[in-house]
Amino acid sequence: MSLDRRGFLKLSTAAGVATMIPGCSMEEKKMGTPTKAILKISCQEGVAPGETLTEKLDFLEANGYVGIEIGGRGLVDRVEEIQKALEGRTIKVSAICAGFKGVIISEKEEVRKEAMQSMKEILTAAGALGSTGLIIVPAFNGQTQLGHQESRELLIPLLQELGVHAQSVNSRILLEPLNRKEAHFLRQVADAAAICRDVNNPAICCMGDFWHMTWEETNDMGAFISAGNYLHHVHIASRKRRKMPGEDEGDNYVVGFKGLKMIDYQDYISLECGSVGDKKVTVPAAAKLIKEQWEMA
Ligand code: MG
Repeated sequence: MSLDRRGFLKLSTAAGVATMIPGCSMEEKKMGTPTKAILKISCQEGVAPGETLTEKLDFLEANGYVGIEIGGRGLVDRVEEIQKALEGRTIKVSAICAGFKGVIISEKEEVRKEAMQSMKEILTAAGALGSTGLIIVPAFNGQTQLGHQESRELLIPLLQELGVHAQSVNSRILLEPLNRKEAHFLRQVADAAAICRDVNNPAICCMGDFWHMTWEETNDMGAFISAGNYLHHVHIASRKRRKMPGEDEGDNYVVGFKGLKMIDYQDYISLECGSVGDKKVTVPAAAKLIKEQWEMA
C-alpha cells in the first residue's frame, strides 16, 4: 500500500502529534509523554574549587553534583588514585575529557596511529573508572590538511576499530562537535550523530556542548532530538563568555533541556567553563540554576 502525502498527514494527525526519535529503535514518542530523563550534574576536575581531588569531591558532593569529569592526559597513571578518592562516595566519574596524543583524521599515518594507540589506552582507564566515555575531537583547525569528505571516509573505519576496543573495556567514544573557530570538521550535534549511525557500533556515541551549540545550532532541542540515543554527554557554560552558567545575562538552557527530556536522557550535564566570580559561590549557584531550568523544561 502506498500513501500519498495527504494520506500520510491524515494518518499522522489521527495518531496525535508524534515525533520520530532517531537512534531510538524507530520508536515513536508522543509530545507530552512523561519523560524518563534524569538530571545528573557533573563538573570538570579543573573547574571545581579545592586544592586536592579529595577537597574537590567533598565540595561537589556537598553541592548536589553527582559526577566529576576528569582530563584524559595522564589518566592511565591516575586510575588507582581516583578509585581510592571515590571509595565510599556517591559521586562518580562522568566522562573523560580528551587528553590523547595524535590526530585521528591527520593526513599522516603515523599521527593517526599515535591517536589510535593513545585513545585505546585512555579508553581502558576510562572503563576501569566506570566512566561514561572518552570525549574526542577528530581534529582542531590546522591539525589536518584533509578535506571534509576524505576526513569522514577515513574516520568511519577507525571509529569502528575504536568501538570494538571501547566495548571490550566497557566504555565509549563520545564525539564532540565544536564551533567553527575551533574546528571545521565536526560542528553540529546532528552531524556527530550521523557519523555514529554510519559507524554502527554501540560504543561510538556523541555529545553536545551548549557553548559550541550557541554558535552552530539553530535550535538546542532540535539538536538533541537529532542525536537521540547516540547522545551520552553534555557540556554546559554561560552562553556569551563561556563562564559559569548564570554569569552571562540571559543564560537559558530550557529549550535544550526540553530536548533532553524528549530523548529520555540518562547521562551527565557537566560544567566546562571559567568563572568570573569566586567558584565557591558560582559552582553551587550554577547547580541551582541548572536544577531550576530543568524543572521549567
Ligand atoms: Mg566541550
